[in-house]
Amino acid sequence: MRTPLVLGNWKQNGSLATIADYAAEMAKQALPTTVEAGICPPALYVAAAINALKETKLAVGSQDCSEYSGGAFTGEINAAMISDMGCGYALVGHSERREMFGDTNARVADKFIAVKATDVTPVLCIGESLQDRESEKTFDVVGAQLRAVLEKTGEEGFIGGVIAYEPVWAIGTGLTASPEQAQEVHEFIRGVLAEFGETLKNSTRLLYGGSVNKDNARALFEKPDIDGGLIGGASLKVNDFAAVIQAAG
Ligand code: PGA
Repeated sequence: MRTPLVLGNWKQNGSLATIADYAAEMAKQALPTTVEAGICPPALYVAAAINALKETKLAVGSQDCSEYSGGAFTGEINAAMISDMGCGYALVGHSERREMFGDTNARVADKFIAVKATDVTPVLCIGESLQDRESEKTFDVVGAQLRAVLEKTGEEGFIGGVIAYEPVWAIGTGLTASPEQAQEVHEFIRGVLAEFGETLKNSTRLLYGGSVNKDNARALFEKPDIDGGLIGGASLKVNDFAAVIQAAG
Protein backbone atom coordinates (compact mmCIF):
# COMPACT_ATOMS: atom_id res chain seq x y z
CA MET A 1 0.00 0.00 0.00
CA ARG A 2 1.25 3.45 -0.91
CA THR A 3 0.52 6.16 1.70
CA PRO A 4 -1.12 9.14 -0.02
CA LEU A 5 1.02 12.28 -0.07
CA VAL A 6 -0.08 15.87 -0.65
CA LEU A 7 2.55 18.59 -0.86
CA GLY A 8 2.05 22.32 -1.22
CA ASN A 9 4.51 24.28 -3.34
CA TRP A 10 4.43 27.89 -2.19
CA LYS A 11 6.87 29.02 -4.90
CA GLN A 12 8.02 32.60 -4.25
CA ASN A 13 5.11 33.45 -1.92
CA GLY A 14 4.66 33.94 1.79
CA SER A 15 6.10 35.95 4.66
CA LEU A 16 6.73 35.44 8.38
CA ALA A 17 3.28 36.88 9.04
CA THR A 18 1.46 34.64 6.57
CA ILE A 19 3.27 31.55 7.91
CA ALA A 20 2.20 32.35 11.46
CA ASP A 21 -1.45 32.88 10.42
CA TYR A 22 -1.42 29.81 8.21
CA ALA A 23 -0.08 27.57 10.97
CA ALA A 24 -2.61 28.87 13.52
CA GLU A 25 -5.48 28.22 11.10
CA MET A 26 -4.12 24.84 10.00
CA ALA A 27 -3.93 23.67 13.62
CA LYS A 28 -7.75 23.97 13.76
CA GLN A 29 -8.31 21.72 10.73
CA ALA A 30 -9.19 18.05 11.06
CA LEU A 31 -6.72 16.36 8.73
CA PRO A 32 -6.86 12.64 7.95
CA THR A 33 -4.22 10.56 9.75
CA THR A 34 -3.92 8.32 6.70
CA VAL A 35 -2.42 11.05 4.50
CA GLU A 36 1.11 12.47 4.63
CA ALA A 37 1.15 16.20 3.92
CA GLY A 38 3.50 19.14 3.91
CA ILE A 39 4.35 22.53 2.45
CA CYS A 40 7.44 23.75 0.64
CA PRO A 41 7.88 27.44 1.49
CA PRO A 42 10.71 29.60 0.13
CA ALA A 43 14.01 28.31 1.58
CA LEU A 44 14.49 31.38 3.75
CA TYR A 45 11.26 30.52 5.61
CA VAL A 46 11.86 26.81 6.16
CA ALA A 47 12.96 27.26 9.79
CA ALA A 48 10.02 29.53 10.61
CA ALA A 49 7.60 27.14 8.93
CA ILE A 50 8.96 24.09 10.79
CA ASN A 51 8.60 25.92 14.06
CA ALA A 52 5.14 27.32 13.31
CA LEU A 53 3.73 24.02 12.01
CA LYS A 54 4.84 21.92 15.00
CA GLU A 55 1.27 21.67 16.29
CA THR A 56 -0.07 20.56 12.90
CA LYS A 57 0.27 17.39 10.85
CA LEU A 58 2.16 19.23 8.12
CA ALA A 59 5.81 18.56 7.39
CA VAL A 60 8.04 21.05 5.59
CA GLY A 61 10.01 20.58 2.40
CA SER A 62 12.44 22.44 0.19
CA GLN A 63 11.54 23.68 -3.32
CA ASP A 64 14.90 22.72 -4.77
CA CYS A 65 18.32 21.35 -3.83
CA SER A 66 21.80 21.99 -5.14
CA GLU A 67 23.50 19.12 -6.93
CA TYR A 68 26.76 20.15 -5.20
CA SER A 69 27.65 19.04 -1.71
CA GLY A 70 29.11 22.34 -0.59
CA GLY A 71 31.69 25.02 -1.29
CA ALA A 72 31.85 28.07 -3.54
CA PHE A 73 28.28 28.00 -4.93
CA THR A 74 26.78 31.36 -4.01
CA GLY A 75 23.07 31.24 -3.35
CA GLU A 76 22.79 27.44 -3.33
CA ILE A 77 21.49 25.16 -0.57
CA ASN A 78 22.63 21.54 -0.38
CA ALA A 79 20.90 18.33 0.66
CA ALA A 80 22.77 18.05 3.98
CA MET A 81 21.50 21.52 4.94
CA ILE A 82 17.95 20.60 3.94
CA SER A 83 18.18 17.50 6.11
CA ASP A 84 19.86 19.41 8.95
CA MET A 85 16.93 21.85 9.10
CA GLY A 86 14.44 19.00 9.41
CA CYS A 87 12.84 19.04 5.98
CA GLY A 88 11.02 15.87 5.02
CA TYR A 89 11.04 16.46 1.25
CA ALA A 90 12.89 18.30 -1.49
CA LEU A 91 11.43 18.99 -4.92
CA VAL A 92 13.81 18.61 -7.84
CA GLY A 93 13.20 19.47 -11.49
CA HIS A 94 10.10 21.62 -11.09
CA SER A 95 9.14 22.90 -14.54
CA GLU A 96 9.75 26.50 -13.49
CA ARG A 97 13.33 25.59 -12.61
CA ARG A 98 13.73 23.64 -15.84
CA GLU A 99 12.32 26.51 -17.94
CA MET A 100 13.78 29.55 -16.20
CA PHE A 101 16.85 28.39 -14.30
CA GLY A 102 18.50 25.93 -16.64
CA ASP A 103 17.78 22.67 -14.85
CA THR A 104 18.51 20.05 -17.51
CA ASN A 105 17.59 16.36 -17.19
CA ALA A 106 21.21 15.58 -16.25
CA ARG A 107 21.31 18.26 -13.57
CA VAL A 108 17.96 17.18 -12.15
CA ALA A 109 19.28 13.61 -11.90
CA ASP A 110 22.28 14.86 -9.89
CA LYS A 111 19.97 16.84 -7.62
CA PHE A 112 17.80 13.76 -7.07
CA ILE A 113 20.86 11.68 -6.17
CA ALA A 114 22.10 14.37 -3.77
CA VAL A 115 18.76 14.42 -1.91
CA LYS A 116 18.45 10.63 -1.92
CA ALA A 117 21.82 10.33 -0.16
CA THR A 118 20.22 11.96 2.92
CA ASP A 119 17.10 11.12 4.93
CA VAL A 120 15.08 13.65 2.86
CA THR A 121 12.58 12.28 0.31
CA PRO A 122 13.28 13.57 -3.21
CA VAL A 123 10.24 14.53 -5.29
CA LEU A 124 11.13 14.37 -8.98
CA CYS A 125 8.91 16.71 -11.03
CA ILE A 126 8.32 15.83 -14.68
CA GLY A 127 5.81 16.90 -17.29
CA GLU A 128 5.29 17.92 -20.90
CA SER A 129 4.63 21.36 -22.40
CA LEU A 130 1.50 22.18 -24.38
CA GLN A 131 3.53 21.94 -27.58
CA ASP A 132 4.77 18.48 -26.60
CA ARG A 133 1.22 17.34 -25.91
CA GLU A 134 -0.17 18.79 -29.13
CA SER A 135 2.56 17.11 -31.15
CA GLU A 136 1.88 13.82 -29.33
CA LYS A 137 5.28 13.79 -27.65
CA THR A 138 4.00 13.52 -24.07
CA PHE A 139 5.27 9.99 -23.45
CA ASP A 140 8.61 10.72 -25.16
CA VAL A 141 9.26 13.81 -23.05
CA VAL A 142 8.04 12.39 -19.74
CA GLY A 143 9.84 9.10 -20.42
CA ALA A 144 13.12 10.90 -21.18
CA GLN A 145 12.85 13.05 -18.04
CA LEU A 146 12.26 9.96 -15.92
CA ARG A 147 14.84 7.71 -17.58
CA ALA A 148 17.53 10.39 -17.20
CA VAL A 149 17.24 9.86 -13.45
CA LEU A 150 16.57 6.10 -13.36
CA GLU A 151 19.53 5.31 -15.63
CA LYS A 152 21.83 6.98 -13.09
CA THR A 153 20.20 5.65 -9.92
CA GLY A 154 19.01 2.17 -10.91
CA GLU A 155 16.16 0.66 -8.91
CA GLU A 156 17.99 0.69 -5.56
CA GLY A 157 18.96 4.34 -5.84
CA PHE A 158 15.42 5.45 -6.64
CA ILE A 159 13.33 3.46 -4.16
CA GLY A 160 11.65 5.76 -1.64
CA GLY A 161 11.70 8.68 -4.07
CA VAL A 162 8.45 10.30 -5.21
CA ILE A 163 7.46 11.41 -8.72
CA ALA A 164 5.21 14.39 -9.42
CA TYR A 165 3.70 14.44 -12.89
CA GLU A 166 2.86 18.03 -13.70
CA PRO A 167 1.85 18.88 -17.26
CA VAL A 168 3.33 22.34 -17.79
CA TRP A 169 0.17 23.52 -19.55
CA ALA A 170 -1.84 22.81 -16.40
CA ILE A 171 0.42 24.64 -13.94
CA GLY A 172 -1.08 27.87 -12.65
CA THR A 173 -3.39 28.07 -15.66
CA GLY A 174 -6.62 26.73 -14.16
CA LEU A 175 -6.52 24.04 -16.88
CA THR A 176 -6.31 20.71 -15.07
CA ALA A 177 -5.59 17.48 -16.87
CA SER A 178 -8.75 15.39 -16.70
CA PRO A 179 -8.51 12.47 -14.28
CA GLU A 180 -8.34 10.20 -17.35
CA GLN A 181 -5.52 12.20 -18.98
CA ALA A 182 -3.57 12.20 -15.72
CA GLN A 183 -4.17 8.49 -15.10
CA GLU A 184 -2.98 7.66 -18.62
CA VAL A 185 0.40 9.32 -18.00
CA HIS A 186 0.69 7.91 -14.48
CA GLU A 187 0.14 4.43 -15.89
CA PHE A 188 2.83 5.10 -18.48
CA ILE A 189 5.21 6.27 -15.70
CA ARG A 190 4.56 3.08 -13.75
CA GLY A 191 5.40 1.15 -16.90
CA VAL A 192 8.79 2.90 -17.14
CA LEU A 193 9.41 2.17 -13.45
CA ALA A 194 8.63 -1.50 -14.12
CA GLU A 195 11.53 -1.65 -16.59
CA PHE A 196 13.80 -0.97 -13.61
CA GLY A 197 12.06 -3.31 -11.14
CA GLU A 198 8.70 -4.54 -9.90
CA THR A 199 9.25 -3.22 -6.37
CA LEU A 200 9.97 0.22 -7.77
CA LYS A 201 6.83 0.07 -9.91
CA ASN A 202 4.60 -0.93 -7.02
CA SER A 203 6.07 1.17 -4.22
CA THR A 204 6.74 4.55 -5.88
CA ARG A 205 4.23 7.25 -5.07
CA LEU A 206 3.09 9.24 -8.11
CA LEU A 207 1.62 12.68 -7.44
CA TYR A 208 -0.35 14.73 -9.94
CA GLY A 209 0.16 18.50 -10.08
CA GLY A 210 -1.33 21.31 -12.16
CA SER A 211 -4.27 23.41 -11.00
CA VAL A 212 -5.43 20.89 -8.42
CA ASN A 213 -8.06 22.44 -6.15
CA LYS A 214 -10.64 21.42 -3.58
CA ASP A 215 -13.23 20.74 -6.29
CA ASN A 216 -11.21 18.55 -8.66
CA ALA A 217 -8.85 16.78 -6.22
CA ARG A 218 -11.03 13.83 -5.27
CA ALA A 219 -11.69 12.65 -8.84
CA LEU A 220 -7.94 12.80 -9.57
CA PHE A 221 -6.90 11.02 -6.38
CA GLU A 222 -9.43 8.25 -6.97
CA LYS A 223 -7.51 7.06 -10.04
CA PRO A 224 -5.54 3.88 -9.34
CA ASP A 225 -2.08 5.25 -10.20
CA ILE A 226 -2.47 8.70 -8.59
CA ASP A 227 -1.21 8.67 -5.01
CA GLY A 228 -1.65 12.32 -4.10
CA GLY A 229 -0.82 15.77 -5.40
CA LEU A 230 1.64 18.62 -5.68
CA ILE A 231 -0.40 21.75 -5.15
CA GLY A 232 0.63 25.31 -6.02
CA GLY A 233 -1.97 28.08 -5.79
CA ALA A 234 -4.48 26.11 -3.72
CA SER A 235 -1.86 25.34 -1.06
CA LEU A 236 -1.62 29.00 -0.10
CA LYS A 237 -5.12 29.03 1.43
CA VAL A 238 -5.62 26.91 4.54
CA ASN A 239 -9.23 25.89 3.84
CA ASP A 240 -8.50 24.94 0.24
CA PHE A 241 -5.33 23.01 1.06
CA ALA A 242 -6.97 21.19 3.97
CA ALA A 243 -9.82 20.17 1.64
CA VAL A 244 -7.32 18.81 -0.91
CA ILE A 245 -5.56 16.82 1.84
CA GLN A 246 -8.93 15.47 2.99
CA ALA A 247 -9.72 14.42 -0.57
CA ALA A 248 -6.64 12.14 -0.50
CA GLY A 249 -7.84 10.36 2.67
P1 PGA B 1 -0.63 25.04 -9.45
O1 PGA B 1 0.95 24.71 -9.36
O2 PGA B 1 -1.33 24.09 -8.51
O3 PGA B 1 -0.75 26.47 -9.02
O4 PGA B 1 -1.03 24.81 -10.87
C1 PGA B 1 1.40 23.39 -9.25
C2 PGA B 1 2.92 23.36 -9.21
O5 PGA B 1 3.56 24.15 -9.90
O6 PGA B 1 3.51 22.54 -8.49
